Amino acid sequence: MSEGNGSYCRGHLAIVGIGPGAIEDMTIKAYNTLLEADVIVGYKTYLELIKQLLVDQEKEIVGTGMTKEVERCQKALEIAAEGKNVAVISSGDPGVYGMAGLVLELAETKGLLNQIKISVVPGVTAASAGASVLGAPLMHDFSIISLSDLLTPWELILKRLEAAASSDFVVVLYNPKSHKRVEHIEKAREMFLKFRAGDTPVGVVKNALRSGQEMFVSDLEHFTELPIDMFTVVLIGNSQTKVMGGKIVTPRGYSW
Ligand code: SAH
Repeated sequence: MSEGNGSYCRGHLAIVGIGPGAIEDMTIKAYNTLLEADVIVGYKTYLELIKQLLVDQEKEIVGTGMTKEVERCQKALEIAAEGKNVAVISSGDPGVYGMAGLVLELAETKGLLNQIKISVVPGVTAASAGASVLGAPLMHDFSIISLSDLLTPWELILKRLEAAASSDFVVVLYNPKSHKRVEHIEKAREMFLKFRAGDTPVGVVKNALRSGQEMFVSDLEHFTELPIDMFTVVLIGNSQTKVMGGKIVTPRGYSW
């Protein structure tokens, strides 16, 4: 389907991926969409990341706390239905564990899909940001798995870890560890050790491409000794992944 859908559009709601944090890592489309919006809706911490862009701008800003995702989306839909141009910001890519799905689902529930123009503006996701800091670990097939069991049963996460580990995928772990959830990363490590050598390279990147960035090159045997939290991505190499001069590189092919 092209722009709109033939029916009367009251407003425009863009779900904008702001990337990992620095304004320069945002796409020009994301940047322009934020500049054009009348209202910006977002989690307070993410609004903080783009505050430099909002200086001198006469925009209405609607900020909410971390767990208020549904409230945030509902508010954005209401404002768009009034005919305004709204941007909902999401860190990284809004379509990767971000706000895009929730906005579309809520719009459907409220019968607004035909009345508001909704667009998704992609951004640099944490896997790409983390990989760029480490070198080139994602040169071959990879999978992304979130260790958060808030919305997914742990048994299913474990099944996916096993499938990815046994298929020699490079794996990127999102939401690897929180204050309350410390044991999942250990269980993930044990699963990978069933299929991969203890010296398989593992990269850990905290706050990739934003202030406070830290990166560590470790291996499957030892990486859980590193400071891992909810601002961290963990990249586990495949059987061919190597460390070269402090960089993690996965060869493009298996042939040589
Ligand atoms: N939509 C986001 C992901 C949200 S899930 C994206 O596309 O990047 C939240 C998880 O993403 C965090 O727990 C962490 O594992 C990871 N993450 C997001 N930004 C990060 C960054 N700059 N550095 C390291 N990890 C990050």
